[in-house]
Amino acid sequence: MNLFAHSIASKGGVSFVRRVGIVATRFGVTPAKAERSLDAYLKVFRRYDCNGTFPITATVLCRNPRVAHRLTDAGVELAVHGYVHTDHTTLSADAQREQIAGALRVFLREGLHADGFRSPYLRYNDGTVAAVESLGFRYISNETVSYDVIEPGSVSPARWAAYQRALRLYSALPASDTVVRPRVRGSLIEIPVAMPDDEILVDRLGMGDGPLIGNVWAELVRRTHLRGDLLTLQLHPERGQICQQALEIALDAARSQPGPIWIAQLRDIAEWWHRRARSRLRVEAGGHHRWRVTTDGPEGAVILVRGVSCSETHPWSGAYRALSGTSGIVESPTPPAIAVSSRSDGLRAFLEEEGFAVVAAGESEDSVVSIDRPGPLGLADQAEILAEIEASSAPLVRLARWPGGARSALSITGDIDALTLGDFVRRAWEVR
Ligand SMILES: [Zn+2]
Repeated sequence: MNLFAHSIASKGGVSFVRRVGIVATRFGVTPAKAERSLDAYLKVFRRYDCNGTFPITATVLCRNPRVAHRLTDAGVELAVHGYVHTDHTTLSADAQREQIAGALRVFLREGLHADGFRSPYLRYNDGTVAAVESLGFRYISNETVSYDVIEPGSVSPARWAAYQRALRLYSALPASDTVVRPRVRGSLIEIPVAMPDDEILVDRLGMGDGPLIGNVWAELVRRTHLRGDLLTLQLHPERGQICQQALEIALDAARSQPGPIWIAQLRDIAEWWHRRARSRLRVEAGGHHRWRVTTDGPEGAVILVRGVSCSETHPWSGAYRALSGTSGIVESPTPPAIAVSSRSDGLRAFLEEEGFAVVAAGESEDSVVSIDRPGPLGLADQAEILAEIEASSAPLVRLARWPGGARSALSITGDIDALTLGDFVRRAWEVR
C-alpha cells in the first residue's frame, strides 16, 4: 500500500485522512470533473499561446483513453508517469524496467507517443535511469530543486514541517546549491522540476486562492529569469480550478520580464538540449588580438560575448552581448576561452555543456580564466565554479543556454495520477 505509506510518512496520519476527503471533492465517478480542471489549464495555454506536459500513469491512461486523446489533440504532451503510481526506489532494477516497458506498451496500444518519463513521487534511483535509458526515452524529469520563496514565519510550524517533509521525500536540492538547467545523462536529458508545486502550496501550506499561489510562482519566474535557469512548474491537473488564476499570473510574469523567456514543453526542451549539447563553440586565433568565434550549434543558437570588442553585437543581458550570427570576429588581448587542465575531465564536460569555449591548459596559457579541478564535480561545485566565472571580468564567449535569444526557460507540467474517484482509490491497491 504504497500510497498510504507515502502519504502517512510525508503528511502524518491525520493530514492523510483530511487529504482523502479533499481529494474526493476534486474527482467524480466519471472523468468530467477532472476534465473541467484540465480545461481550465488548456484555456490558459491557448490564451498565452503555449502548451504543457502532463505525465500520466499507464493504468489511468488505460481506463481513460478518450481524455488522453483529447489532451494530445489539444497539443498537450503526455509523458510516462509509471505503470502504476508506485515508488520506484522500492523496486529492483528489473522490476522497474518491466513496469516502465509495460507503461510504454499501453501508450503504444493507444497510438500515443512518449518522449519522457517522470517517476511517481519524483522518486528514482540509478535503476530507474538505466531502465528509462534502455527503453529509448529522450528525457527523464525527476531531479527536484527548491527555491526559498516561502518565509518560515509566514506559516504555522505544522505546515512548515509538512512542507519540509515533502522536500525530503523528493530529495529536493536548494536551487542556490546547484545549476538549474537540463543536463546530459548518458543518452537521456535530465530535466529538473521546481518546488514549491501546487500540492505543497495548496494542501500543505493551505494557500487556497489563485493570487496567493500565483505570486509565489511569479517570484519563481523572476528568480529563474535572473539566473537564466529552466523553471519547470508542477501543477497537478486536479487542482485546475484553484490554480488556473495562479498559472495566468505566472505566465503574465513570464511575458513581462525584461528579456524573453522560452516557454516550451519538456520534449522540446529535451530536443533542444540534445542538439545543443552535440554542438561546440570554437575560438581560433584570427590575427593580432583577434579571435574567430564559430559554432555548429542548432538553429536558434546564439553566441554571447563579454569583455571583448565586436562590432556586430546587440545588448543581451548584464555584461553579455549577443553576436548577430553564428560566427564573428572579436577583439581581445587574451583568448576569450576557459583553459582547463588535462586532468579535469568532469569540469571540462560541465563547462562545455554550459556553452563555454574550452581549451586545454598549456595549449593557450594566456587565457584569463584557467581552472584545475581534478576528480568528480558535484552539483554544488558546479554552481560555485559557474558563479566564480560569472563574477569575474574576464573576456569570454559562450553559447546561450536557450534558443532565439531567450534569457531563461519555462515549462508547465503536471502529473495525471487519477482522473476519476475510482482511479484515485485504485492507486492504493494496484501498486505491486
Ligand atoms: Zn504522481
